[in-house]
Amino acid sequence: MDQKQSSLSGKVAVITGGYGVLCQAMARALAEQGVKIAILGRNLEKAQAFASELRTMGTLAIGIKADVLNKEELELANVEINTKLGICDFLINGAGGNHPDRITTKSMMEEEDLGNNSLKTFFDLDVAGFKYIFDLNMLGTLLPTQVFAKEMIGRTDCSIVNISSVAAIKPLTKVASYGSAKAAISNFTEWLAVHFSQMGIRVNAIAPGFFLADQNSALLTNPDGSLTSRGEQIIQNTPMGRFGKPEDLNSTLLWLLDPKSAFVTGIIVPVDGGFTAYSGV
Ligand code: NAD
Repeated sequence: MDQKQSSLSGKVAVITGGYGVLCQAMARALAEQGVKIAILGRNLEKAQAFASELRTMGTLAIGIKADVLNKEELELANVEINTKLGICDFLINGAGGNHPDRITTKSMMEEEDLGNNSLKTFFDLDVAGFKYIFDLNMLGTLLPTQVFAKEMIGRTDCSIVNISSVAAIKPLTKVASYGSAKAAISNFTEWLAVHFSQMGIRVNAIAPGFFLADQNSALLTNPDGSLTSRGEQIIQNTPMGRFGKPEDLNSTLLWLLDPKSAFVTGIIVPVDGGFTAYSGV
């Protein structure tokens, strides 16, 4: 579509964790629509390098250093965005993820596992690890929303898209902290949609299935690129028989952000190749 014909053209989008695998694809899709984009991330050089790639697509884009758990950095980012791009219309809370150290070794515990030091059981999960995942995903959605949604009050066609997970819909084995943090994001999405329903701000979430990315590659693939047994299990339980391609999320993102979706708020959309629909039998 011609950028000028797009109903999103000229809007300002803030994307946290913006140079991650899934957010890069979403940012490119927005750039194609003529959306002005602020890429936020912990590494300034990476954020700026990706923003400069987006500018070659003919849109305005800037890269800014902002950790989603650092409200002061987010406030400073907001000032810079207002000056260089304009006021934020769209917030995509993309920063998040899991950590390979913060999972149980086995899917289901057996009695003899207790006291086996070579295994990480539920009882060995440390609070710090749980907190790390919870803070990154949940507070890392809350804090940017507090900063950027304030700018949306009293305006029209503003929209927030959070990134939940299929792990929020049905817990995945081993990743207790990740699943519960994403479930919190889904719950928060619904809560905030209601809270902002009279404010002209729509709040929705995408629940991706399985996509190969930095934060999960150690769980899903071996160093030689072959699938781990968990990776294979996932493919077997995804009716479409493949991992998602980052671009698979784009049409849902564009639909959720589009002002024509004015009556759509408080939903969590799985984009998962049928994973959540499948019972495994
Ligand atoms: P990714 O690792 O490529 O991207 C995550 C990004 O978040 C990275 O750029 C990372 O640097 C950034 N980040 C981490 N901590 C941060 C912090 N404190 N402040 C700012 N940025 C921070 O992984 P991805 O798969 O593209 O993840 C994007 C989102 O999608 C995450 O919320 C993830 O949980 C979610 N998700 C991914 C999948 C999947 O299969 N890949 C499935 C469901 C949900």
